[in-house]
Amino acid sequence: MDSAEYERKIAHRFAAFDQDGNGYIDRADFNAAAARLLAEFGTTARCDKGQALYTGAEAFWQGMAGIADVDGDQRVTREEFVGGAVKRLRDNPERFAEIARPFLRAAIAVADGEGAGSASVSAVERALVVLGADDATAGLAARGLDADGDGRIAEQDAVAALATYFTVIAPDA
Ligand code: CA
Ligand code: CA
Repeated sequence: MDSAEYERKIAHRFAAFDQDGNGYIDRADFNAAAARLLAEFGTTARCDKGQALYTGAEAFWQGMAGIADVDGDQRVTREEFVGGAVKRLRDNPERFAEIARPFLRAAIAVADGEGAGSASVSAVERALVVLGADDATAGLAARGLDADGDGRIAEQDAVAALATYFTVIAPDA
């Protein structure tokens, strides 16, 4: 992989976190992601699922800041993201899984219409689109998450896939 391609992949991952597109990652981006998911699935912020999603988003942000906000200004710049998040998460993917897990668990609960403890492939596709993925990428990613082909995606699948997406920058990623 040449450096231009590496830069493109980094930019793509940074943009996925920078939900409001203002050039840095901060708490507002995580709150925006939570709000978009709740709106998509018709869930209020005040109910238990909504509260859990915001709590998970805050924990995700705190974990991200702890890893990547080197100067402590409560913003993760692109440089901090590359130097901190990508490199350090790649060295320790389990750490990433733990900071993301409460948010993913809550997001699956919001997207799960059946109380099954997992989300359908189509619900995950909708979630990815509302968080900024294009239709083709979202469909491919959602189907790829359903490793056993039962049409449902569980918390562990989502955690593993997110950790891989953000920590393994491979030529075919
Ligand atoms: Ca932002
Ligand atoms: Ca910073």
